[in-house]
Amino acid sequence: MTNDNPGHVCPYCETLNDQDAGFCRKCGVALTRRCPHCDAVNWIDDEHCVQCGATLDILEWIIRRDNLGVAGRLNEQMDEAEQIKAIETAASQARMERMLAEEREMREALRQRLIEQRAQEKKMLTIVLSVTGVVLFIILIVALITGL
Ligand SMILES: [Zn+2]
Ligand SMILES: [Zn+2]
Repeated sequence: MTNDNPGHVCPYCETLNDQDAGFCRKCGVALTRRCPHCDAVNWIDDEHCVQCGATLDILEWIIRRDNLGVAGRLNEQMDEAEQIKAIETAASQARMERMLAEEREMREALRQRLIEQRAQEKKMLTIVLSVTGVVLFIILIVALITGL
């Protein structure tokens, strides 16, 4: 009954399609369905078969259209979720790298301090040893002098 029309409007995205188009040129949804009684090809929102006049289940494409809508929304949400996940992953990676860099810096500082401490200890030991040596030398001299 819609065969006289120059084209069909997609029930999902409302794009005008050619009369003989099997699928919407914009959203790709199927625009035709076969009559379960005589197998004639009918426009998706025909309520009755163009050939045998049998009642076509209009609920079928409404459900399909709604499912498509839900699927589209789900896809969008998934894309969003993936984007958020990607951002979070990047952020946590940056955080991790920062933490690792800080830890490296801390270790480097600690190492530097340890080296300095050891150098100081060595210096102290050298001073103590030389002072002890000098004191022993003086005692020896004094002992020699007083002994003579
Ligand atoms: Zn469409
Ligand atoms: Zn039919």
